[in-house]
Amino acid sequence: MDLGLQGKWAVVCGASKGLGFACAQALANEGVNLVINSRTAQTLDKAAQFLSDSTGVQVIPVAADIATPNGQEAVLAAAKQVDILITNAGGPPPGDFREFDRSHWIKAVEQNMITPIELIKAVVDGMIARKFGRIVNITSTSVKAPVDGLCLSNGARAGLTGFIAGVSREVASHNVTINNLLPGKFDTDRLRNNTAKKANLNGRTVDEELAYQAQNIPAGRIGVPAEFGHACAFLCSAHAGYITGQNLVIDGGAYRGVL
Ligand code: NAP
Repeated sequence: MDLGLQGKWAVVCGASKGLGFACAQALANEGVNLVINSRTAQTLDKAAQFLSDSTGVQVIPVAADIATPNGQEAVLAAAKQVDILITNAGGPPPGDFREFDRSHWIKAVEQNMITPIELIKAVVDGMIARKFGRIVNITSTSVKAPVDGLCLSNGARAGLTGFIAGVSREVASHNVTINNLLPGKFDTDRLRNNTAKKANLNGRTVDEELAYQAQNIPAGRIGVPAEFGHACAFLCSAHAGYITGQNLVIDGGAYRGVL
């Protein structure tokens, strides 16, 4: 299927690896030019080179912390036009809520709620004027069903989800859509790092622990980032203009809610 995105420009945050990279790669395969971002210049430049070499699209890397106003400004300044915005950054650290003080909460809310809101604010009016815009926020299944030990993520992402539910309806008549993608367990560095402690406690390697956890996923396996990227590209496509304000769970069936 031709997704109708040839020649468009996307800003993809948190894109040097993991789910953000998978989204950038799926868009690049559809002929979308990219501004990609992450904090570490070396890995980001490598990712940019790989994407431009393998797809032929223009890729501009901007190394910056997207959770800061300066970082947001630098990323947006690199894009001539933003047709597609993928918001993403690392998730907050795990831990018991008693361990976290005001500064931890402010940081989590800044990274996982205020940053996407600021980015959307900066690009949405241009999208409205051009009558095309696709915004996808990478959040988490913790929005549907809180994850034990991830109280910062459970809380901050709920705030973003509420905001998106409202604003997505305000801009829908201009062919601007805003959706959230909710990953379950995907094989990325973050999942592996978060799993290491549990694996150690259970006397297993990380691979053994992931295989054990996969038994509770109806699909019987951990997700592959490319699968996530393809879903993201479809939501950004010309064909997805009637899908907005949604929270799409991609988790191999792990979330057991009826709706
Ligand atoms: P990952 O493999 O650790 O990749 C994170 C990417 O974001 C890297 O490119 C990282 O590069 C960049 N990044 C992190 N903080 C940033 C910041 N402040 N500014 C700019 N770039 C930043 O993580 P992932 O697994 O793809 O996760 C992506 C998101 O999905 C996270 O919010 C995570 O909580 C959520 N999620 C993931 C899973 C999963 O199973 N993988 C499940 C549920 C939710 P630098 O470190 O160089 O900046």
